Amino acid sequence: MPRKLVIVGFDGASFDFIKPVIDELPSFKKLIERGTHGRLESTIPPITIPAWPSMSTGLNPGKLGVFDFRYMNDDYSFHTVDGSDIAGVPFWEYAGKKYKVAIANVPGTWPPSDVNGFLVTGMTTPEGREFTYPKEFAGEIESEIPGYADTFGASGKDPSKVYITFEKRMLLLEYLIKKDADVLFFVFRIPDEFSHKKTISKEDMPECYRTMDRALGKIIKMSEGSNIMVVSDHGFEFNESEPFFVNDWLRKRGYLKLKGRASLLAKRALFKARKKPAYIYDLIDGKKTKAFSYNISSARSFGVWVNMEGRFKEGAVKDREGVVNSIVKDLASDPNIERVLKADDIYSGENRKHLPDIVAFSKGPAYTTVFPTETEKGIHSTHGIFIAHGPDIAVGKEIANARITDIAPTVLHLLGIRVPDNMDGEPLDIFEGRSGISRKVSYVKASKAKKKKSVRSKDDEEKMRQRLKELGYI
Ligand SMILES: [Zn+2]
Repeated sequence: MPRKLVIVGFDGASFDFIKPVIDELPSFKKLIERGTHGRLESTIPPITIPAWPSMSTGLNPGKLGVFDFRYMNDDYSFHTVDGSDIAGVPFWEYAGKKYKVAIANVPGTWPPSDVNGFLVTGMTTPEGREFTYPKEFAGEIESEIPGYADTFGASGKDPSKVYITFEKRMLLLEYLIKKDADVLFFVFRIPDEFSHKKTISKEDMPECYRTMDRALGKIIKMSEGSNIMVVSDHGFEFNESEPFFVNDWLRKRGYLKLKGRASLLAKRALFKARKKPAYIYDLIDGKKTKAFSYNISSARSFGVWVNMEGRFKEGAVKDREGVVNSIVKDLASDPNIERVLKADDIYSGENRKHLPDIVAFSKGPAYTTVFPTETEKGIHSTHGIFIAHGPDIAVGKEIANARITDIAPTVLHLLGIRVPDNMDGEPLDIFEGRSGISRKVSYVKASKAKKKKSVRSKDDEEKMRQRLKELGYI
């Protein structure tokens, strides 16, 4: 039986906010100095979903089937993603064959699935719905931490509410540690949720990280003798560059046409008067549009979807390659663009139906509203964090090129479980030489993912959408 493993996730944590103030963060400092750490490259795009599911399964978005919190139906309406839309077997399911697990707050885990232990679902869990496995565990949580279920609601505009949620989550973590699971995986949303608040700037970040550090100190103390990992799904940056409005860019180059006879000025005025982001489904002329973008706006990355015949209701494009090549060429020559990638070159797998055809990174924040709108400086960045510490982990080591898909194989290898052969990542080289953990990785045929049954109602979907809106994601 290997040592216990505690994995703490901090959504959106970045070394850019840790290293400059490391002396104020004794727990992070201790783990970094006495363990192994390195930047962790997120998924493309570096968004909470698909990033956490990718970390949990070791799979890229082309296998998971999700690019974002939403995908577009054939009729241009939106579908808000939940766990039943995400393919792939998370590491805790493999680990659960041998060990007791406790999994909590991992985004994309609602509706809850059976585990060998406990599971508490994560963000976008619709209000009033079952959120634990086993089902009865919710009652236990409610009597230990009254009002816990309220933490699924968004914190609104007030940053102090983020701390209240954090404290409740910390109580749950402490309670779960006492449950004595062999593998504990717990995600805190605090750095991400805090950083997305409109009133928050770079100068406010040390306070947030000191709070995280105090919690980490407590976790280290409570988990003595265990191996500990601290991870994040992507980083965060305050970006001062010009925002990039993808659909406006496509329109100006003739790839996207707006609906109706009204002049551009009139449409823009209408958009402003409504004071809401106008998304493409309201405004574009499907029959005359070759490509558009619709992903949530909280990073410098964006997708471009070709309006293909047979794929979308009004899709009129027959030559996908031709449109892709032309847009890639135009984007690549734009000074506001950092890099352009063809989806075919970056994603592998059979679940690419809802993924875009092109992915690009702009220099400033990317937005998918049809007309330029109010923007934010706080956005996701590509590199999250990886820190590991414990009896089996190398001391004082820094690793390079760690990817988010490496986490699941690393966890399984550490636990002495063979790595499923469909995982895109590899176990990271983080183990202490004499730890007894074989350097040679052995593989096993991957289990077939059972598709979770969708259990949500129209009302649930509306609540999930509302959550994303309150977070400032859509
Ligand atoms: Zn995130």
